[in-house]
Amino acid sequence: MGGRKAQRVRVCPICGSTRLRKESPLSGWLTPEIWVCPDCGYRGPIYGEIEVEVGEDGAKREEREG
Ligand SMILES: [Zn+2]
Repeated sequence: MGGRKAQRVRVCPICGSTRLRKESPLSGWLTPEIWVCPDCGYRGPIYGEIEVEVGEDGAKREEREG
């Protein structure tokens, strides 16, 4: 038992950044979803996924950011 939860977050497939974001709000509607990484400049439809533990206060524990 225990109160730990895991939450999936999308990460850059190139550098592993968790700041991946959609290129535009329309992505996935009329066009395939395009993801953009502000850290390494990656741009494309592929993304990675990791699980991060979520504490009681809802704060995410992320791996260190370069
Ligand atoms: Zn990246």
